[in-house]
Amino acid sequence: MIAAISAARLGAEVTVLEGGDRIGRKILSTGNGKCNFTNKKMDNTCFRSNTTADISPFLNKFGVEDTLAFFASLQMLYKEKHGYFYPASEQASTVLDVLRFEIESHAARITVLTACKARTLTYQKNGTVKVQCGTESFMFDRVILACGSKASPKTGSDGTGYQLLRSLKCGCQIEEVVPALVQLRCKEDYLKAVAGVRVEGKVTLTIEGKVVGDEQGEIQLTDYGVSGIPVFQVSRFASYGCVKGQKVQVHLDVMPGMDAEAFMQYMSQRKEKLGERTMEQFCAGLLNKKLCMQFCKMAGISLEQPVAKVPQKAWNQFVALFKKWTLHVDKPNGFDMAQVCAGGLSMKEIDSHFAMKKCPSVYVVGELLDVDGICGGYNLQWAWTSGYLAGQYATLD
Ligand SMILES: Cc1cc2nc3c(=O)[nH]c(=O)nc-3n(C[C@H](O)[C@H](O)[C@H](O)COP(=O)(O)OP(=O)(O)OC[C@H]3O[C@@H](n4cnc5c(N)ncnc54)[C@H](O)[C@@H]3O)c2cc1C
Repeated sequence: MIAAISAARLGAEVTVLEGGDRIGRKILSTGNGKCNFTNKKMDNTCFRSNTTADISPFLNKFGVEDTLAFFASLQMLYKEKHGYFYPASEQASTVLDVLRFEIESHAARITVLTACKARTLTYQKNGTVKVQCGTESFMFDRVILACGSKASPKTGSDGTGYQLLRSLKCGCQIEEVVPALVQLRCKEDYLKAVAGVRVEGKVTLTIEGKVVGDEQGEIQLTDYGVSGIPVFQVSRFASYGCVKGQKVQVHLDVMPGMDAEAFMQYMSQRKEKLGERTMEQFCAGLLNKKLCMQFCKMAGISLEQPVAKVPQKAWNQFVALFKKWTLHVDKPNGFDMAQVCAGGLSMKEIDSHFAMKKCPSVYVVGELLDVDGICGGYNLQWAWTSGYLAGQYATLD
């Protein structure tokens, strides 16, 4: 949508081919229905890729300020909360509406065809591109592929973008596509006992014993594993680890406010004060009850046991669990549950204008590329950045 607008603003005649019954459906699901459309903190560290270490040249050309100016030009008021930007209405539908109305205001230049799913692309010798949609075919001077990934396929992005890239038969490299910003399923059966618990904590992800990421925030425990923003932030690395059959673990620190030593000291003092109580009574006021009870169980301590009588070894085990509770990741949830995908068309396949080096009149943008942002408005920013610039370049090149 943004590519169509930027191209039309420069005078291009644009046709939007949308496979679904309406354009921009995914926007409605974003930011829990509020659409976190960009973020004040915007640099390379907020993005991951297998094939580029630096997307800042693109962000320098169309970054946060440009995004805000663009939406201001569509007369959308917005608000900022701790650096996260939302429409002032706090309704994701507002973002979709203003984009739709802008497209409609360029009706002389932009034609939108819905229920028109592109199936194959054929690159002609003269550089024009034939797009086959069912029995209908179209010829274009330039094509911008903005098909998304295969995350949340019910919103339209069902992975056919990768098929379109392959149909060009140019041998382009597509990096393995895995779910990212997604819940992680763990092997521990006992998680059922703590399902529904939400706890502030730090998640550290290790692969083959090596730390690959950590993040603090609200951890959500489910009957099958772990969820919540800190889990989402490290999930793409876990997904790749699982695909490679590596040992993937998450270590939860549910007492992030105290270092291990301070926590141990605190627990010893608490034990001295409450030594007569049973373990169940001792845990009251410590942390979420279900979680404390589970930690007792894991340390082999009966809830009826008086605290003072808990053997030292079991006590140490119990205390240690609060600072390092290790879960073994089986696999991520599927693409249907993922907010985005990692992987996609290698960034080495495109030039600085988002044009494919092997098929220069085909431009590729958004999530279809091998760039994934962390939670916080970064994936939409990547869609705005790449879409806006590709719309301009496709018109001017
Ligand atoms: C639940 C959820 C919440 C999210 N929240 C946020 C958030 O708050 N902030 C943020 O920055 N990001 C968020 N994201 C991620 C963000 O929405 C995506 O990264 C972004 O929409 C990607 O834009 P895109 O244009 O590349 O692809 P998409 O938005 O997926 O759009 C692709 C479009 O192409 C169409 N299409 C696909 N294949 C074909 C074909 N063969 N022919 C014709 N049409 C086709 C699809 O129907 C779709 O309309 C969220 C994602 C989800 C699922």
